[in-house]
Formats: sequence, C-alpha cells, structure tokens
Amino acid sequence: MKKLSLKIKVTLMFTFFMTLLTCISLGLLFSLSNQEILGSVQAQLEKRVYESMDEVSVQNGRLDIQQDFYDLEDGIYLALYDETGTFLFGRVPYGFQEKAEFADGNMQTVGTGTARWYVFDIKYRPGEFQDVYIRGICSINRAENSVKTVQRLALILLPLLVVFTGTVGYFFTGWTLRPVKRITETVQKIQKDGDLSRRIGLGPGTDEVYVMAETFDKMLVQIEDGFEREKRFTSDVSHELRMPAAVILTQCEEMLEDEKLTKEQKTQLQRIQKKASEMSDMISRLLFLSRADQGRQEIQKERVNLSELTEMAALEMELLADKENIRLEMQIEENLFAEVDESLYIRMVVNLISNAIAYHGGPGYVKIRLQSMENKILGSIEDDGKGISSEDLPHIWERFYRADKARTQDSHSGLGLPMVKWIAEVHQGGIRAESCLGKGSVFTFWLPVEKSGGN
Ligand code: ADP
Repeated sequence: MKKLSLKIKVTLMFTFFMTLLTCISLGLLFSLSNQEILGSVQAQLEKRVYESMDEVSVQNGRLDIQQDFYDLEDGIYLALYDETGTFLFGRVPYGFQEKAEFADGNMQTVGTGTARWYVFDIKYRPGEFQDVYIRGICSINRAENSVKTVQRLALILLPLLVVFTGTVGYFFTGWTLRPVKRITETVQKIQKDGDLSRRIGLGPGTDEVYVMAETFDKMLVQIEDGFEREKRFTSDVSHELRMPAAVILTQCEEMLEDEKLTKEQKTQLQRIQKKASEMSDMISRLLFLSRADQGRQEIQKERVNLSELTEMAALEMELLADKENIRLEMQIEENLFAEVDESLYIRMVVNLISNAIAYHGGPGYVKIRLQSMENKILGSIEDDGKGISSEDLPHIWERFYRADKARTQDSHSGLGLPMVKWIAEVHQGGIRAESCLGKGSVFTFWLPVEKSGGN
C-alpha cells in the first residue's frame, strides 16, 4: 500500500466507498421494490376477484357467466367452483393444482419452484343459487421476473459504474493533486540544481495546498536570503584577508634578504612565510568559490590545444613528484583541441596532480591520460597511492571536507576538489572519482569536444 501513489490510493478509496454505497442502495431498493410489486399484485388479485362477483348471475335457476369472467385481465385467471370444490366455469393456468384448498377471503401461496401462484378465494351465494367459490389465480413468478430483470440489468451496470467511478475519481484526484505535484517538482529541481531562486508560484488560493505552497515560497525566500548573506560574507572576508596575507608575505621576503639574520631567525621567518603562503592560497580558493557561487567568476573560453596544456601542467608538477619519489607518466593524445578557459583548465589539472602526489605516500606513479572519445575529451589522473575509503569518497566534493584527517597541518584545505568540480561543470563537462583504500585513485574528467574540430 505504501508503494501506491496518493492519486491511486484516493481513487481506490473513492471507488470502494462509491461502490459500497451503490450496492447498499441497490440492495435496499430491490428488497423494497420486490415487496412493493408483490404487494400490488396481491391487491390487484383481490380487487379483480371481488369485481368478478358482478360477472356471475342467476337466470332461471341457472348460473349465467359473463364473457369478461374468462378474460385474462392483468394475467389473473378466474374460476368458479361449487361449494364442494367442483370446477364449474372459468380458466386455471397450466400446471395449477386444482386440489388447492379453498380459504375464503385469504391470500394463499400455492406451488413450488418456477410454478408458484397467489390464490385468492371468496365464497358467496349468487341470488337463490347455492354457495359458490370464486377463485382468482395469479402467477408469482411473472411478478418476480420483472423484478429479476431489473436486478440483472443492475448487475450488468454495476461493473460499468465501478469503472466509470474509478475513471472519474482518478482524473478528479489527479486534478486536485496537481498543485502537490508542482510543489514536489519544484523541490526536486531545487535539490538537483541548487537554484534557490525557484518558486512554486501557485498563485492566489485559499485551500490547504495553496497555503502550504505559499508557506514554502516564503521559506525559500528566507533561505535564499540567508545563503546570499553567507556568500557575501565569505566573499567579503576573503577579500579583506587577501591584503594582510600579501603584506606578511612581502615583509617576510624582504626580511629574509637581511644578511645579519641568525640561522634560527631565518628558520622562524621561513616558517612564517610558508604558513602565510598557505593562508594566501586558501584565501584565493575561498574567493574563487564565493565568486563562482555568485556567478562573478570570470571565464574566458578560447580554442586551446589541451594536449599541450595538460603536458605543461604535468611538467610543472615534476619537481614536486621527484621530491616525493613519484614517477609521472603521461599518455596524452596529441593535438586535442577544446574551448576552455586556459588558466581554469590548468588549475584543475594541477590540483588533481598535486592531490595525487600529496596523498600518495610514495614511492609509486601518477598517470596522466588525455584522449578523445566519441564527442568528448576524456582526461584522467591515476595514482597507486593511499586511496580513499568508500565512506569518504561521496564527500570529497564538499567544501572543507578532508578524508585524510591526520594531515591538517599542511597546505591542503579541502577546497581543491569543489573548485575542480566547478571548473569541469562550468565547461559543460563533469568529473568523477573512483578509489580503493590502499590501492589508489582515478579522477576522470570530461569536456565537450570543440564542434568545429580540426587542429
Ligand atoms: P585538499 O585541499 O585538502 O587536498 P581536496 O578538496 O583537494 O582538498 O580533497 C579533499 C580530500 O580528498 C583530501 O583531503 C583527501 O583526503 C582526498 N583526496 C583527494 N585526492 C586524493 C587522492 N588522489 N588520493 C587520496 N586521497 C585524495
């Protein structure tokens, strides 16, 4: 039941209750109409028997029966018997038991199964003649048959009524739940693309769903405002911090040029310089991401040779790799062109290679691949380093998330991969990571190939 949609549930409930109600009403109607019809047949029979007394007279000591006595008016048979029960005149239906006992003024039911009759007798004395019985006979089955015909018709119509009720209920429920569908779609879209400027926008209405949609919209305005304030705050703070970090760095540089410094003072200054440089790096990443969030991050796409650019980025990292005892291997297909922002692309590749080296633990290798595949360019950075656990893997794209919690002291801040992801996506591409703890990781990115093609 939980798997059924609300629309189906309401339709089923609606159809069930409507069918139940119809069945109860029809049942009541049938039982009442049955009683009513049989009652009216009995009344008609009684009336006809009393009326027939006028059709029997005595002429010259003999009974004179009018022709009307023999008519089958309303399916009622009339017969005249003497007081001993001997048939004198009239008609009885085929199969009727002549021996049925006479009961003056009483309605009797005679026969069984499909041959059942109402029998009504009156005993009276016409003129100077002896006592006679007038017997009226009417088939019960005939009366019941008309009720049964109506019942059969209703039984045929009932399934049609159920289907009709179900169909009407389904469309009506669908129509009523349309606003709920719109609310769900809007929330799903917000979940998917994170665009908080979306609104349900059902317009004015007073029912519960409209009020709920309006409340949602108001809440979205508040959330969007909150996010905007947070983004502005991050952007302002990182902007403000850029200058002091730069000043510290230049001051350190200048002071380090002083030859009168002792060895210990030099070491201390170099430590300050390193930390200031890490801080400056982190600030610039923060600024980058907050500009990206606000749509203010500049992108200047141009047709570039990605093969050359990738090789250049890899060579830039060679020194660092050597230091960590890591071999850089390249499998780069030549002359692959794409429309990209050169500096952003380098930033993405450098980040991925620098992660592969930093989280490797050496010795080992880092493979840089670039190839064209169908209508995209596929790049991958593979290492045989420490790898990432399956619990951490889904979170590495989150800001400030660091899987390797022990290395909080170094220059890494947990902002690199969110930046890389944004760069891949802003180029209408994407990135995914596969990793196995203790065996290594592969980061694969793809970018759309330049449509004009050629080199
Ligand atoms: P950071 O600036 O800390 O490197 P990133 O966003 O670049 O942040 O990476 C997030 C986390 O993902 C890192 O802290 C690290 O634990 C993990 N990670 C990223 N690349 C690799 C890799 N090649 N091998 C193992 N772990 C990695």
